[in-house]
This record gives sequence, structure tokens and C-alpha cells, in this order.
Amino acid sequence: MATRTQAPFDALRASIRGDVLEPADPGYAAVRGTFNTMHDGRPALIVSCCGTADVVDAVNFARDHGLPVAVRGGGHSIAGLSATEGGMLIDLAPMRGVHVDPDRRLAHVQGGALWADVDRETQRFGLVAPGGVVSDTGVAGLTLGGGYGWVRRKYGLSCDSVFEAEVVCADGEVRTASEISNPDLYWAIRGGGGNFGIVTSFTFELHPLGPDVAFVATMYPVEEVGEVLRGWREYVEQAPNEVTSVCVTITFPANPEMPEVVHDRPVAIIGGVYAGDVDEGMKIMQPLRELGTVLFDMSGPTPFTGVQTGFDPLFPRSTLRAYWKSQYLDELPDAAIDTIAAKAQDRPAPLTLVNTFHMGGAIANVGEEETAFAERTAPYMVSIDGMWSEAGDDDANIAWVRSGWNDIGRFGTGAVYLNFTGLADETPEAGVATAFGRNLRRLAEVKATYDPDNFFRINNNIAPAH
Ligand SMILES: Cc1cc2nc3c(=O)[nH]c(=O)nc-3n(C[C@H](O)[C@H](O)[C@H](O)COP(=O)(O)OP(=O)(O)OC[C@H]3O[C@@H](n4cnc5c(N)ncnc54)[C@H](O)[C@@H]3O)c2cc1C
Repeated sequence: MATRTQAPFDALRASIRGDVLEPADPGYAAVRGTFNTMHDGRPALIVSCCGTADVVDAVNFARDHGLPVAVRGGGHSIAGLSATEGGMLIDLAPMRGVHVDPDRRLAHVQGGALWADVDRETQRFGLVAPGGVVSDTGVAGLTLGGGYGWVRRKYGLSCDSVFEAEVVCADGEVRTASEISNPDLYWAIRGGGGNFGIVTSFTFELHPLGPDVAFVATMYPVEEVGEVLRGWREYVEQAPNEVTSVCVTITFPANPEMPEVVHDRPVAIIGGVYAGDVDEGMKIMQPLRELGTVLFDMSGPTPFTGVQTGFDPLFPRSTLRAYWKSQYLDELPDAAIDTIAAKAQDRPAPLTLVNTFHMGGAIANVGEEETAFAERTAPYMVSIDGMWSEAGDDDANIAWVRSGWNDIGRFGTGAVYLNFTGLADETPEAGVATAFGRNLRRLAEVKATYDPDNFFRINNNIAPAH
């Protein structure tokens, strides 16, 4: 790393509208923490950007001074890919603006926005940009890596709704990525992560939804998860694309707002959202509420913003240590269900999740080479989300996630979802080849065009083609 000299540093501080912070500066510690406390790096310099010009100056400064750069959108990277030890953190947290054009059904979203920001503005017009299921997650990292949410089977991945983006590349140039401007860049940012530059703004295509949606959240005893999953599989295999559903296992803390029967009780939750008429949706999803012994049922017509924030309290920022792994499955045979069920009943920490997602629908309407995001056809994904509190428990929890992932891997396609990939002693390239499949070669070529020196390398890294 080059030694910092005062004059250029002062020039940077003078040019940036946002804050330029060093460890001794007041405010350094208060910059929004990362989600995963396993990766709370201490950058030598934080540039909190207020706009594209700030991002350009930060990129040019880091490049000219040989500083490694981490980029932070919402800070939810499970792998810690928005943190750095030393180097520069380019923090987009101040850039959370969202503007909706209801007539054209477009939303312009700044690169540091959270899904809560987008939902708040788009739902005002009964529209949705497909996001994730926790409103505190960043738009940028989730979208650039794919993006699965409650409307994925009706409207596809988050990246599938990206109409255009503004990208600050490694040379400091601001480029538009769209079907007509830099189409190779447009192709690559839809799934290829933060490899190609810093997205300062997305334009999303919006779709009709809400303000209320038909919502299912039915809790069954975890001991019944095998039977529940068998019934769920039968249901989802014939469900219309309007239904997006998941099975989650978790142990809720004792919360006075929840009935005592689920306090500290491991449960399997069947969740579902119907992207269409609310009454019809409640009728169509009724079988999801009858898959076993119901402990508690929160189902009913629900404001979509309520669905989006409902799980937030389980995922507090800067509190948990996290190591996740995922597998796509082409089918869900009984033996896979039995493996998932065994794992779900053997979780080492209450907030550790074993999730089975139903995919397909609109996700599979996009060809695997149409965007960088290659996995389009697998109808299921299982993710094992290890989350615990104490650093002393790291090894045991990481080992448990790995063993479950290996067990379930016997039924998997071999591909992983990079947004759900934790890093302990793995390198940032872990999983990249399987995730991108035959798109990797083209991604490496686009990387060579826009970032030949691999300036943006703290990400699920794609090496530039030579
Ligand atoms: C509690 C929780 C819930 C989640 N739920 C879902 C879900 O429902 N669906 C789903 O698909 N995923 C989900 N995820 C995974 C999520 O997609 C990833 O963690 C994602 O990286 C989060 O985006 P972020 O902007 O917060 O990430 P960050 O940590 O800020 O960044 C992640 C990566 O993206 C890069 N990046 C961030 N911003 C930019 C930018 N503006 N331009 C270029 N590169 C950038 C970073 O450099 C880094 O490599 C969840 C994660 C958590 C922790």
C-alpha cells in the first residue's frame, strides 16, 4: 500500500461532499456497521459518498494511491465483502434516494438504498421492484448478485428488473449500462456482482403489487418438518407462478407479541405470497396452512410493506456472526427432505436457519446466458444460514454449516448462490466457477474490458481474461 501524503489527502477531503474519515476521526466508529460481525474490518480511510462525483473522486484517489477498495451498499454481505482491513471503504450509505415514475413504471434508486427505501416509495403507487425478504438489506449487493424475494416466481430476480444502471468504473469514468449503452456491462452487472464498477444508481422496471397481498406464515412443530415438506413439495409443484413459497426452520426468542406456544420453540414456518388478487390468493394458498399441526398462524391479507419488514427483527445489524451456504436442487426426493429435516432439528443456535426455497416461474423464463446470472432452472434451493453471537462459537457453527451443506450437496446441482455464500478461510473466488458456469468466460472478458487490473476485487471475484 502506498504511503499517504497529506496534500492529496487534503485535496480529497476538500472535494468530497460527504465525509472522509480516518480511524481517529469522530464519526468513524459510527459509520453504519456491517451485518456480519465476523467481518468488521477497520479501513484506513472511509469515504462516505453523497453522489456520483464523490464516488468518482474516491475511485480515482484509491487507484492513484494503490489503496485496496471495498464498496458498501447496504453492508449485508454474509461473506464480509463490503469490509476491508486497511485500504479504503467507499460507503454509499448516504445515497438512499428513490424516485418513482409511476407513468413509465420505473424507479430510480441510488446505490446505497435499502429495500425498505424502495418499498416505501414504490408501494405508494401500488408497484414493486422485486427485492429480498428483509427490508434492511442493501439494494445494490442483492441486485448485482441476483436477488430472490417474495415475488420471484411472478416477476423474476431483482437483476431481471434492472432497466439501466449508472456505473463508476475503475478508470473513474461514469458509464450507463443498458440494452443500448454498453450492453456487455449491462449483461455483466445482472448477476456478476460488484466486479465491474460501483453502481451509483439503478433504474428498475416496476410491476403491479399491493398495497395488500395474500400472505401465508404458518408455524408447525419442527418435529413435523419432514411431513410438512412432503406436503409443501406436492403443493408447490403444481402452484401457479403467482405463488412464491419457502419453508424456514428457526427458534424464536420468547417475544410477548407472539403466543407462548412458540416461545423458544423450534418451528417450521411455511411462508407464501400471492402476487395477484388478494382473496383469490388466500384461497389458492389455503393448503399451505394445512400441512401439519398448526402452532400459530399469522396468515391473512397483509400490507406488502408489513410482509417485507416482518422478519427484520430476526436479523439485527452488527450483532450476529454469520456463515451461510446454499445448494440448488433439480428435484426434492424424500431422501433430500429427510436430510433437510434431520439438519433442521439439529441446529446449533436458535437463529440458525435451514431454508428450502421454491424457485422456477419467471426466474426460468430468462435463458441462462441472457444475463450473467446463470442458474435459472433448478426448482429448489436449500440454504443453511448459520447465525450465532459469540466469537468462541465460530468453529463449531462453521463446521456444522459445512457438514449440512455437504449432506444436502448429495442431492444438489453443485451450483451455489453467491449472495448466500459465507467466507471463513475460503478465498473470495470460492463458488464463483460453479455459480457462473459457462458465463464465467464471458464475464472474465467483460472484466478485462472495464477493470483489467482487477481494481474491484473485494467481491465474489472474477479474474480478468488475459
Ligand atoms: C439478513 C439478510 C437477509 C437477506 N435476504 C436476502 C433475500 O431475501 N434475497 C436475496 O437474494 N439475498 C438476501 N440476502 C443476501 C444479500 O443478497 C447479500 O448479502 C447482498 O450482498 C446484500 O447487499 P448489500 O448491498 O447489503 O451488500 P454489501 O455488503 O454492501 O455488498 C455486497 C457486495 O456487493 C458489492 N456492492 C455493494 N454495493 C455496491 C454498489 N453500489 N456497486 C457495486 N458493488 C456494490 C460490495 O462490494 C460487495 O462485494 C440477505 C442477507 C442478509 C444478511
